[in-house]
Amino acid sequence: MTTEKLYYKNAYQKEFTSKVLEVIELKGELKGKFGIILEKTCFYPEGGGQLGDKGKIDKISVLDTQFKDGEIIHITEKSLEIGKKVKGKIDWVRRYKFMQNHTAQHILSESFLKELGGETFSVHLGENSLTLDIGLSKLKWEDVFKVENMANKIISENRQIETHWVSKDELDKFPLRKKPKVNENIRIVEVGKFDYSACGGTHLNCSSELGIVKVIKWIKVKKGFRVDFICGERALSDYQWKNKMILEIAEFLAVKKKDLMDSVEKLFEENKIQRKQIEELQYKLLEDKFKREINQTRRIEGIPVVKLISNDGNFKIIRKIVTDLIEIEQCIILTANIANNKANLIFARSSKGNESQVEMNTLLKLFTSKKGGKGGGKPNFAQGGGNVEGLEDGFEIIFKKIEENLKKTGKK
Ligand SMILES: [Zn+2]
Repeated sequence: MTTEKLYYKNAYQKEFTSKVLEVIELKGELKGKFGIILEKTCFYPEGGGQLGDKGKIDKISVLDTQFKDGEIIHITEKSLEIGKKVKGKIDWVRRYKFMQNHTAQHILSESFLKELGGETFSVHLGENSLTLDIGLSKLKWEDVFKVENMANKIISENRQIETHWVSKDELDKFPLRKKPKVNENIRIVEVGKFDYSACGGTHLNCSSELGIVKVIKWIKVKKGFRVDFICGERALSDYQWKNKMILEIAEFLAVKKKDLMDSVEKLFEENKIQRKQIEELQYKLLEDKFKREINQTRRIEGIPVVKLISNDGNFKIIRKIVTDLIEIEQCIILTANIANNKANLIFARSSKGNESQVEMNTLLKLFTSKKGGKGGGKPNFAQGGGNVEGLEDGFEIIFKKIEENLKKTGKK
């Protein structure tokens, strides 16, 4: 029961009439769905890197087309009567896009090989992304431009695309890009004396239908580069929005298009310098604040114990200030910096006198056990995160604990 493959006679046929030969109730992931086998079909089943067609058989939607156990299976939500004469119609917009993608892939693969000696070792033609894996050790835009120029020249020359069904013995007649994986029913797709490859997919009749092919980016992969490309209308719309965006950015920055990169780099550098200046100023301001607190705060056994809850400045700077201050001043600092409704806590002390008897990591654990949060550290410096609620109250508990400790050690 082999379905006649109308797509191999004419890839441009969109509608057909046929007879239902078999209906299978599908299992596994497709449980609840039906597999329709027809006498003949235009629906291309997924294979050779090309996705399966969608469309309609009578009024029933075909969700996908797959090749299974030698049969073309039209996957549907509803069943059909065996023997019924039906009308099939493929989603032509989608299929034509796939035909363009497949043809573009052949031309681009051959261009990479001819221009750079890069072989295509893997292809992905998805619904929204097209990639080629090319075996090259390096790749620059200048190289890619050469490849694109060659591919687009072939497109503009309106080369005819033909298919040849050959036997294994006839293969030598064709300068194939790659040896085919199958031994019989070998189908060679020829792009007008430019590229010959064994492929079971659907393709355009002539190269000019592609309009344009363009590489948009690439990434390094294990054996070479994964190159993303686009073609046809998608390439045009990609060019449209990118061109518009570049012009808008250039206008916004009041520079010429060619100076855009220099201008952005300059802005970035200026921004980096300004950010550094702001951090230095923040440091100075907060350092003064902490120093004022150390001088003005109540002393216990001669040691200033600073409590400071703030919601300004950034935590990195505060940590640096506290780290610097405990080196030069004899003090104990309890600080909470509030950001995003969380309290970033630092309990720290210098190691000069009897304040060194007070363990900050123990105190932080006491604080978080009573008020929630987590953290840890060393006896002279502990850090953690806690809730904003009950912060004052919690600090008071810790303050009293420090007072007890210092009075005890001070009396020794
Ligand atoms: Zn192909």
